[in-house]
Amino acid sequence: MKVTEHIEQAKGETLVSFEVLPPLKGGSMQSIFDILDPMMDFKPPFIDVTYHREEFVYNRRESGFYEKASIRKRPGTVGICAAIMHRYGVDAVPHLICGGFTKEETENALIDLNFLNINNVLALRGDARRFEDKFVPEAEGHHYALDLVEQIQGMNEGIYQDKAIENGASTDFCIGIAGYPEKHFEAPNFESDLYYTKRKIEAGADYIVTQMFFDNTKYFEYVEKCRAVGITVPIIPGLKPITKRYQLNSIPRRFFLNLPEPLVKEIEKAKGSAAIKEAGIEWAIAQCKELKEAGVPCMHFYTMGDWETSKRVIEAVM
Ligand code: FAD
Repeated sequence: MKVTEHIEQAKGETLVSFEVLPPLKGGSMQSIFDILDPMMDFKPPFIDVTYHREEFVYNRRESGFYEKASIRKRPGTVGICAAIMHRYGVDAVPHLICGGFTKEETENALIDLNFLNINNVLALRGDARRFEDKFVPEAEGHHYALDLVEQIQGMNEGIYQDKAIENGASTDFCIGIAGYPEKHFEAPNFESDLYYTKRKIEAGADYIVTQMFFDNTKYFEYVEKCRAVGITVPIIPGLKPITKRYQLNSIPRRFFLNLPEPLVKEIEKAKGSAAIKEAGIEWAIAQCKELKEAGVPCMHFYTMGDWETSKRVIEAVM
């Protein structure tokens, strides 16, 4: 079933969903099941699986020179999606990015997903690789998530990249996109970012999942601004409890967002790692209670390998 159908079927009840990362190469599928098994108590209607582009590394050669090599540390997104659907009978949402894909490779990936009966996809641009100061698409690839949404929507209408294909089978993908309550870091201003978000919806995207936020006001204002420009699709809040002191700096640096002062004070005041974790969990519980009361369609947890924290929060809220 499509993510939007799950939301419709819930008739205003708040759903719970999760995002998992593929294990590092050499890891096992069991590590994903270990995260998801305990989460099945919450009956998530869908589970997202992230996609990770290849990275550049510099290997030192015997001569002393460094050699640039490309590696993919977390492959397996599509296989994990199929395994999740098979084991739990829950819909999987693979993330698909522009980076590292030509349009033809994207088309082939979509064909694989379609044949596996995976009909949800989160369409993203992806970030710049390490050692690159800006996002660089493949020569025959997409520059923006908007172009990727257009390609997926095209396939939903039976249009393939290979123009020789006539009467191509139409796919039926439900397309999610990312949204940024605190603005995407590259956008010159919030309005510009919102303009391109709206363009993605007009191109065929069916719902938005937000970047994590720690101040619900940011989410509520974002929804209001989206509605004001005519974006009517569901806007799913993305959530991540803080559990460690260093995250006070690493989360803003990595995700380009602000942490509210009262949360920062609570974490700074906490003595020891257990107390810090408790403070982060308490904050997330309060956040989720308010979001649920406001009738958000779904609370989407970025588990980042830590299922216990998300579980604690959900148990206190649902
Ligand atoms: P876009 O929508 O392309 O926007 C990128 C920037 O360009 C924005 O500033 C936007 O305002 C601007 N823009 C958009 N369209 C145009 C246009 N046509 N012309 C000019 N400017 C334009 N990354 C991964 O690598 N793998 C993942 O699995 C992954 N999952 C994510 C899940 C969620 C819920 C979120 C919020 C992010 C995720 N990311 C992931 C990170 C994401 O790839 C980055 O945030 C990336 O920098 C932007 O992606 P986007 O899809 O929002 O890009």
